[in-house]
Amino acid sequence: MRSNVFNKKEFVSNVKDNLKNLYRKTLDEANQQEIFQAVSTTVKDEIMDRWLATQQTFEKDDPKTVYYMSMEFLMGRALGNNLINLCAYKEVKEALEELGLDLSVIEDQEPDPALGNGGLGRLAACFMDSLATLGYAAYGCGIRYRYGMFKQKISDGFQVEVPDNWLKDGYPFELRRPEYCYEVRFGGNVRPEYGEDGSMKFVHENYQSVLAIPYDMPIVGYDNNVVDTLITWDAQAKEVFELDSFDKGNYEQAVAQENLARNLVEVLYPNDNHVAGKELRLKQQYFFVSASIQRALARFKKHHDDIHDLPEKVVFQMNDTHPTVAVAELMRILVDEEGLGWDDAWNITTHCVAYTNHTIMSEALEKWPIEIFQRLLPRVYQIVDEINRRFLIEIENRYPGNEYKKQKMAILWDGQVKMAHLAIAAGFSVNGVAKLHTEILMNQELKDFYDMYPQKFNNKTNGITQRRFLAHANPLLADWVTKHVGKGWITDLSQVAKLAPYAEDPKEQQEFMEIKRKNKIRLAKYIKEHNGIEVNPDSIFDVQVKRLHEYKRQLLNILHVMYLYNQLKSNPNMDFYPRTFIFGAKAAAGYRNAKLTIKLINNVAEVINHDPDIQGKIKVVFIEDYRVSNAEWIFAAADVSEQISTASKEASGTGNMKFMLNGALTLGTMDGANVEMYDEVGADNIFIFGMSAEEVIAHEQHKDYNPMEIYNNDPDIHKVLNQLIDGTFSANDKELFRDLYNSLLSNQGGKIADRYFILADFRSYANEQQKINSYYRNRKAWAKSAILNVAHVGKFSSDRTIQEYVDDIWHLDKITVKMDRI
Ligand SMILES: *Cc1c(COP(=O)(O)O)cnc(C)c1O
Repeated sequence: MRSNVFNKKEFVSNVKDNLKNLYRKTLDEANQQEIFQAVSTTVKDEIMDRWLATQQTFEKDDPKTVYYMSMEFLMGRALGNNLINLCAYKEVKEALEELGLDLSVIEDQEPDPALGNGGLGRLAACFMDSLATLGYAAYGCGIRYRYGMFKQKISDGFQVEVPDNWLKDGYPFELRRPEYCYEVRFGGNVRPEYGEDGSMKFVHENYQSVLAIPYDMPIVGYDNNVVDTLITWDAQAKEVFELDSFDKGNYEQAVAQENLARNLVEVLYPNDNHVAGKELRLKQQYFFVSASIQRALARFKKHHDDIHDLPEKVVFQMNDTHPTVAVAELMRILVDEEGLGWDDAWNITTHCVAYTNHTIMSEALEKWPIEIFQRLLPRVYQIVDEINRRFLIEIENRYPGNEYKKQKMAILWDGQVKMAHLAIAAGFSVNGVAKLHTEILMNQELKDFYDMYPQKFNNKTNGITQRRFLAHANPLLADWVTKHVGKGWITDLSQVAKLAPYAEDPKEQQEFMEIKRKNKIRLAKYIKEHNGIEVNPDSIFDVQVKRLHEYKRQLLNILHVMYLYNQLKSNPNMDFYPRTFIFGAKAAAGYRNAKLTIKLINNVAEVINHDPDIQGKIKVVFIEDYRVSNAEWIFAAADVSEQISTASKEASGTGNMKFMLNGALTLGTMDGANVEMYDEVGADNIFIFGMSAEEVIAHEQHKDYNPMEIYNNDPDIHKVLNQLIDGTFSANDKELFRDLYNSLLSNQGGKIADRYFILADFRSYANEQQKINSYYRNRKAWAKSAILNVAHVGKFSSDRTIQEYVDDIWHLDKITVKMDRI
C-alpha cells in the first residue's frame, strides 16, 4: 500500500499473521469480528509508517498547529474510510474476495465510534479529514466516552435507548499513550501566598484530581502520507488504589478519585442544540480542555523557550462554547505556572483562541450557575471574574454610563457564567457557520458584540468530506463522476462543475438514474432486513434524516403525509406518484415532544402501510438507529432531501450538503446553508418554500402569529390536526398525541403555540411537494436537475471550509510528508 503500491499477497499474508497473533486462529476458524480486527490491524500497521513520518515532519518543520477542541467527534467507521484515503479500497476488496471474504461484511463488524450527537460532532470529523488531506498539522481534542451516543431501538413505535458499549471488542484504530498523561484538578480552595520579596501567588489546595490519559486515533489524509491525530482523553484515578491500605483517609480519597474518573468519561450527553446544565458536564469540559492545553503547551515548549511566541505556533479553535473554559485555563497556566503578568498572559491568550458559534437558540446557550462553577473550579473562576471585571471596564470606556450594555454583555451576570460572552471577549475570531447564520449573529443575536468588535466576526460556511460521503458511500456514482471529470474531485470538489454539460445528455441522464435506482435497491434491502417493510425502488425516496428536534420540523413532514393520505383516501385516482417517506432520527432521552413525534411517525406508518385503499402508493419508513454508517447508504439512495427547519433556526445544516453531493433535490426553507445551495444550484433545481428568516424573526418580535386562525380556516389542516386526537393513528387512544396537538394550538407554560410555525408554512410546503410530484414524472428534467445538483456542490466540501479557516483565522503552514524519512 505504501505510495499506492499495493501488494495483495503481502496484505493477505499479514491478515493471516494478525489472526494468528491476535487469536491463534486460521482464517477458517475465525469469525467475522476477528477477521475485522485482523484486517484493521493490518491497515493500522500500514498507517503507522505514515503517522511516524508525519510526526517526524512536525519535529523537523515545526509547523503552526491547530488544536480543534470539541466535546464531540462523530467519526463513523474508520476501516473503509482509511482504505479510501490510503487509495487501497478496491485492492483490499479484491484481495479479500480471493479469500472468499466480503469487505462490506467486514466493515459492518466495526462499531460506529459515536462520540457525538449530530451535525456539530460530524462537522468536527469532516474537518479532521480535510485538515489531514490538505496537509495541515492538526490535533482534534475530545473525550473518549465509554458510552457514546445511545443505540436506538424502536419498540411498539417508541424509541428505546440502549447503551452503546462501543469498546467491548476493543477498538483497533486507537493507541493508548500513558506517557503523555496530565493531572486535572477539581474543587478545593485557593489561598494567597506571599513571598519574602512581597510577591503574591495563589495556591490551589484540598482539590481532587484525576489523570487524563490520551488515546490517539490516526486521521489519514487522502493519498498524501499525512496522518494527523485525534486525541480522545480517558480519565484515571491518580492515586493507585491500594487495597491493603487501612488508613481511612486514604481509602476514601482513593475511592472518591476512582469514582470521579469513572464518571467523568462515562457517557456523552445525548442532547443536540440543548443544554442540560449538569455539573458533570462542566467537569467533562474542564477535564478535556485542561488536558489538551497542557499537551499543546508541552509540545510547544519542546521547541521554544519563549512562551510569548505561542500564537505563532498554536491556535485553539473552540467548537461551540463547550470548550470555552479554555480561555480561563490558558490564562491560569500562563499566570500561575508560567509566571506571566496578567496583560502579557491576556495578550497571548487572545491571540491563540478562536470561537465558532453554532446556534442562536436560547436553549442551547451555555450558562453555568456561578455557584457550581466556583465550587468546581475555584481558581479558574477567579480568573473568569477578573476577565469579566476588565471587560466591563472596556464596555464602560466604550459606552460611558451605559448600564444596559453591561448587563447584556457581561460574562458574569445574574448568578451565571455566560460562556458565549467569555468566548467572544477572548477570542480573536468569532465565526458563524453559514452566510445567513453569520448575518443573524451580527445583526441580531450578537449585535452588541459585533458593534464593539466588528473585526472579530467572520463567516465560514460548513462543508462535508466528499471522501466519506461520495467516494466511500456511493461507489457507483463516484465512478461515474470520475469517468467524466477524472479523479481530481476527490481532493478538489470544485472540479465536479465539469459535469454540468452531461446534465443535458439523455444517455448520461439514463445512466445517472440507473445508478440512483441501484442505490435505492441497496437501501430497500436494508429496510426490508431491518424494518420488514417492502418498499418500491421506483417510488420517490423522500428522506428526512437528522436529529429529532422541533425546529427541524419532522412534525411538518409527517402531518403532510397524513394530509396526503386523506387526499388519496377521498380521491383514489388523483395524480399521485408513488412515494416512500423515509425518516431517521434520534431524540434526546428526555425530550418528550421529540419522542412523541417518533411514535407518531411509526403509528402513521403502521396505518398507511397496511391500508389497502392506498395500494402501496405511500410507504412510511422509520429507520432505526440513524448513524453515520447507515447515513452513507441513505444519502446515496435519496431522491428528495427534506431540509425544512423553521427559517433562522438551523445554523447551517450539513445533511443538506451530503444529499446534494449524492444527487438528491432539496426541498427546503431559506435557512442555514440551504440559502447558499439555492445560490449555487439555481432556482430551477431546488424546491423552496415557507417564510423567510426575516419574516419569522418579525413574527417572534411582534408576537402576532396565531396558528388557531389557520386551523379554523383551512379544513385540510383542521382535519389533520384533529386526527391527532381522534384516535385515527393511535388505535383509538385519543390522549396519546394530545401534547403534539396542544403544542401547535395552545400556549402553555412559557411556550407559545406552534413556535416553529408549522401551520404557517404548511400550505406552501404542500404546494412544493405537489410540484415535486409532477416534476418527477418528467424523468429527463429530474435527472438533469439531479446531475446539476452534483455539478454545483463544489462549494460544500469541508476542504473549502478548512482552507478558509486556514487563510482567515489559523494561518497554518502546509506540510509535505516524505516516506523516505523513516
Ligand atoms: C450529517 C449528519 C448529521 C447532521 O445532519 P443535519 O441534517 O445537518 O442536522 C447528523 N447525524 C449524522 C449521522 C450525520 O451524518
